[in-house]
Amino acid sequence: MIKKKRVLITGAAGFLGSHLSDRFVAEGYHVIGMDNFITGDIKNIKHLKDNFEFIEHDVTQFIKIEGDLDYILHFASPASPIDYLKIPIQTLKVGSLGTHNLLGLAKAKKARILIASTSEIYGDPLVHPQTEDYYGNVNTIGPRGVYDEAKRFQESITMAYHRFHGIETRIVRIFNTYGPRMRLNDGRVIPAFMGQALRGEDLTIFGDGLQTRSFCYVDDQVEGIYKLLLSDYVYPVNIGNPHEISIKDFAEEIIKLTGTKQKVIYKDLPIDDPLQRQPDISLAKKLINWRPKTDRKEGMKITFDYFKSLSKQELYKSEHKDFSSYSIK
Ligand code: NAD
Ligand code: UDP
Repeated sequence: MIKKKRVLITGAAGFLGSHLSDRFVAEGYHVIGMDNFITGDIKNIKHLKDNFEFIEHDVTQFIKIEGDLDYILHFASPASPIDYLKIPIQTLKVGSLGTHNLLGLAKAKKARILIASTSEIYGDPLVHPQTEDYYGNVNTIGPRGVYDEAKRFQESITMAYHRFHGIETRIVRIFNTYGPRMRLNDGRVIPAFMGQALRGEDLTIFGDGLQTRSFCYVDDQVEGIYKLLLSDYVYPVNIGNPHEISIKDFAEEIIKLTGTKQKVIYKDLPIDDPLQRQPDISLAKKLINWRPKTDRKEGMKITFDYFKSLSKQELYKSEHKDFSSYSIK
């Protein structure tokens, strides 16, 4: 019998980590999921039984894995702006100490490691759309700096381990991705608007709503990550959907989709909220022949059906309903 390849996925109980776990199990791998549940939820992985094992662990602490590892995907990190403003030190630690531990593990196991970077490394970008050779425009000491700088450090230490220790590394720069299993109250714009529509509340637009984002459906994102891992390219690659929209127009789309009778209301724009974001995906197209396939209408419908299926208790859970915390100066 051929031995299954073994892959460690950190952040496995989160949104992307759980979808990646599904994909790798479906591809015939043995998956070891790791998470400390700081922003994740066991319910995202409870359906996984065969070829899946779970270790509850904080990756900023020394990581011990029995047996061989072929691949590591490091996805542990708070990812919603409200989450990383609420837990700034843990965010810095998981991107720095956590990544260091995982690179050490990759070296010890001779495993290939892919780390989850982000469009946030471009900060409030002055180059549009963002190409991988753009160095970015980040405020190191602003509230979002805890996430952006942790991710920038993560890229640097990953390249250092590649150059100095010769380990096989991959870096994906993920642009706003959405789909089922996002936390309804995590404060990111899609769950925020859909949760508001379901509760019969007005949709909160931050700033004038002219800031843009480009939303990628989760299955497309997972496909891009999967192909990048199996490629031989060590430098960062953008994976995202270039279909850009202003937050104001997006709110209108959600009002139409959900059928809510509510209106939009305006709140302060959070500090350092990027004014524009769109991935240039020429590199991904060329290197791994990847492009997103799911259009926003289709992906948003699947996502809304997921949120609709959640319990009332989940809908009214108030973890982030006080948006004032988002704008602390
Ligand atoms: P998420 O919050 O749903 O998942 C993150 C998971 O990491 C959670 O389950 C959390 O409990 C776990 N975690 C956090 N710190 C940990 C620690 N110290 N030890 C162990 N587990 C820990 O977020 P997500 O959207 O799934 O994001 C996953 C990764 O992708 C993150 O690294 C994020 O920066 C990156 N990313 C996501 C997006 C996006 O649009 N979803 C965009 C850019 C980058
Ligand atoms: N946003 C908004 N209303 C909300 C939540 C978010 O207008 O209730 C805006 C936010 O200011 C940002 C965009 O939507 O301009 C995307 O925010 P999100 O938190 O999803 O992620 P970001 O791309 O900023 O990391």
